[in-house]
Formats: sequence, C-alpha cells, structure tokens
Amino acid sequence: MSDERCLPYRDNLAAYALGALDAEDIPALEAHLAECQDCQSELADYQSVASGLLQSVPPQAPPEGLRRKLIARLPSHQARSSKSYTNLLGRFPIGQVAAAVAVLVLLGSSIFSALQIRDLRQEQAALAERLYQDQTAIAMLAYPSTHALPVQADVEGVAGSALVDKDKRLAVLVIWNLPQVEAGKTYQIWLIDPQGKRTSGGLFKPLEDHGYTTATILSPDPLAQFVGIGVTVEPEGGSEGPTGSRVFSVDL
Ligand SMILES: [Zn+2]
Repeated sequence: MSDERCLPYRDNLAAYALGALDAEDIPALEAHLAECQDCQSELADYQSVASGLLQSVPPQAPPEGLRRKLIARLPSHQARSSKSYTNLLGRFPIGQVAAAVAVLVLLGSSIFSALQIRDLRQEQAALAERLYQDQTAIAMLAYPSTHALPVQADVEGVAGSALVDKDKRLAVLVIWNLPQVEAGKTYQIWLIDPQGKRTSGGLFKPLEDHGYTTATILSPDPLAQFVGIGVTVEPEGGSEGPTGSRVFSVDL
C-alpha cells in the first residue's frame, strides 16, 4: 500500500488506539486497516504504548553477572577494612543510594529556586521603591505651591528638575541620563545653607535600564532655609560632607 493512500489515516491511528477517534471517522479507518499491513503494524505499536509501556517490554532475565555483583554487596561479603567510596556506596541497598541521590537533586533544585525567589524579591523591592518615588513626584507636581527648578549639570547629558515646595521638608529630583555609579559608590544629595554648610539630604542610585531617575530629598529643615542642592558621588553608605566630584546642582 502506498504511503499516499495511508496519509489521511496515519494521523487518526493514535486516537483510534486510545479509543478517542470521532465515531464518523472510524468506518473509513477500519476499512483501510483491513487491507493495509503498514497501518496495522503502526496501530499495533500505538496499542502497545496505550496498554502500558511496561507490558510492551518483554520480560528479560537479568544477566548472570548481576546476581554475583548483588551478592557481593551483601554485608557478609564486604571486606571490613575497605574504605573506598565505591564500597561505602555498595554497603547500602541500591534503593537507598538512589533515594539519597534524589534528595540531593531536590535539595540542589530547591536551593536554586530559593536564589531565584531572592532575586525576584530584590527586583520587586527596587520596583516598589521606584513606584513610591514616582508617586511622590506626581503628588508634588500636583501641589499648587510646588516649583520645578532646573538642574545645572556638571556631567554632560544630565538634565532634569527639582520639584520643590520651599515651606516643606520634602523635594523630589527627576533626573535624565544619570550615569550608573561604580560598585561601592552612591549618589549623595547635599542641602547647602547660606553659610555654605552642607547637610546630607539622602542617598540614591539610578535603576538599571531606565531613562530617568527619581530621588526623594528629606530635609531636616524647611527648604526655604537652604540656598541650593548639590549631588556628588560618594562611597557606599554616604559621607559626612561631600568628598567626590559634583554631578549636578540646583539653585533654590
Ligand atoms: Zn495504510
């Protein structure tokens, strides 16, 4: 029988073997099967799979050597002084060794999952922080007494605004194109009073893969008491006073 004639029936054989073929397709398939040896043998394959993989494998006698090896694993046949790893494993029934390996594999995969969950939590925390900053910026923009003051960049390409309400202790920086800081460094905000004294207004880092960065400034005093804001690169954890190069500033 040519393959071409079998083609319409081949796809139905598996469903037929499982008893899942549509009733209307059965008569045609059975008529074809009656005269096609190829499809009969293919159907037999499907049926053997369907009736259980174990039953389709003919029982086999274990090789003679295996019996000898298994007997050798029995404690009475072990050399008592042997300390090799193979012999140590050999002392345990094969089922226990397999169980121990399975436990190790499960342990490994659950450690892997735990690490993934930790990464996701860190990512989630960073996004939550970002959302908080953005909402603060929007809330400040909506406030009638808020002014958007331009940023004066010391690093090329940096641009943005400080959203400031001078009667309050809170301001928000919205900065575009701020470069990532190197490992072990952070950006630090400085509030500058009329005498030139610098007070820390907080630390921040740009998020990866975002065009802009928002940072909330928490001031110890109403912002009207300061004449400017400066941002420098400082060691992780921040400094008592500015030590790094200035990235941008804002005149209040
Ligand atoms: Zn056929």
